[in-house]
Amino acid sequence: MARKKIIAGNWKMNMTPSQAVELINTLKPLVGNDEVDVVFCVPAIDIIPAVEAVKGTNIHIGAENMYFEEKGAFTGEISPAMLDDAGVKYVIIGHSERREYFAETNETVNRKVLKAFEHDITPIICCGESLTQREQGVTIDFIRQQIKVAFLNVTADQAKKAVIAYEPIWAIGTGKVATTEQAQEVCKAIRDCITEIYDAATGEAIRIQYGGSVSASSAPELFAQPDIDGGLVGGASLKADFGQIVCYNK
Ligand code: PEP
Repeated sequence: MARKKIIAGNWKMNMTPSQAVELINTLKPLVGNDEVDVVFCVPAIDIIPAVEAVKGTNIHIGAENMYFEEKGAFTGEISPAMLDDAGVKYVIIGHSERREYFAETNETVNRKVLKAFEHDITPIICCGESLTQREQGVTIDFIRQQIKVAFLNVTADQAKKAVIAYEPIWAIGTGKVATTEQAQEVCKAIRDCITEIYDAATGEAIRIQYGGSVSASSAPELFAQPDIDGGLVGGASLKADFGQIVCYNK
């Protein structure tokens, strides 16, 4: 069965609650595409007004992060039950900015992935190499390790529903998009790794996005690759361009 594309916006630390509603109202008429799952991953404080604002549309609301405990003395954190109750369907886990600035590791990513599944929230699991790693020729080894740890104790049925975002760190927010060949090569290696861990059916089912300076002009070629099932989009998700990215096939 063909995999449905999934195109998600990562708003990062942008948009106040009222700005979020305004942006959603601007983007709503631009992101209608039945062939694509459309997700807006928004700051935690925007989630409740965003869920309200997308009612009756094809847009799903996602979170940008989540903690791996159920509840308790974890000041400032947001639990999976809170996200679930608010109507969140997806959560970005292990974005490179969280790994770099908030000390997230492959192990915390794994704990969060397991928790998200417990609450029926689909994790969008980020992986990606630095420029040094690419230049040293260790990209695939590094990403395989990220994937293997992220999926520890995740069942095949869960893995089939997961989303992986391959985001080369050197391409995030830099305007430097990976070439189509580079993106396809790594997304295929990720699918092969999932097939090795589980089986061919799981490898075939899992959706793998490319992320890193995706724009309206680069999206059509990237998303036409056999192992790229859509994109995780930062900067361009805050503009009308996101409509063109979602409608890349029209
Ligand atoms: C991201 O934040 O996940 C991202 C890919 O950002 P940008 O599209 O701005 O490079």
